Amino acid sequence: MLSVNLGWRDVAFADPLERALGVPAVVDHNVRAMALAEARYGDTGGADPLLYVYVRTGVGAGLVIGGQPFRSGAHGVTELGHLRVVERGRPCACGASGCLETVAAEPYLAERARALLGRDSQDPLADLAEAAHGGDGRAAAVLEELVDRLTTGLASAVNLLNPALILLGGAFRTAPEPVFDLVRDALRARAFPVLRDAVQVRRATLGPDAGVVGSAAVALDRLFYDA
Ligand SMILES: [Zn+2]
Repeated sequence: MLSVNLGWRDVAFADPLERALGVPAVVDHNVRAMALAEARYGDTGGADPLLYVYVRTGVGAGLVIGGQPFRSGAHGVTELGHLRVVERGRPCACGASGCLETVAAEPYLAERARALLGRDSQDPLADLAEAAHGGDGRAAAVLEELVDRLTTGLASAVNLLNPALILLGGAFRTAPEPVFDLVRDALRARAFPVLRDAVQVRRATLGPDAGVVGSAAVALDRLFYDA
């Protein structure tokens, strides 16, 4: 398997787990597992296809179609964070530059919040949104730039994959509602007309254990239901 954030390539991750635990192990992408958890157990109204976007250290995505996680090729569609959204942008861990996650993930938001607010922030997205709501024009500009870049990536996903629902998780799961209004408005302006009317954008419905729930669903599918 490959993990850009951990710097791993071609690591047979299930093998040492099976040796250590003495039981069969299956490995899947963390965000794809979260997406499956939302599709199976979340409050999504059965929306299909479902695109789940997770913003933390990076920006990942999982797509569930007809109740099954979409796994194309080696890495599926999980690397939304490596869509190029900035020309001549910052270098990214993947080797390219200007990737979405260099300007939308939490490390970048923490850096911008620290420069703006003069302190470390536990929740930079919420703090930036609160400052913007309180009339801080610089915070509003940072937020606007973030939404612009995020929705540039999301619009590509909408145009190519036509999801019925996009759930934003991770840092966005607890973001103030006005942030979602900004995302919806910006996405409408960027996505293909027919599709933008059909797609909803909401916050993730499951809590921080979505990955654990999704992993259990992946293991059940593989080991018991042979999906
Ligand atoms: Zn990248």
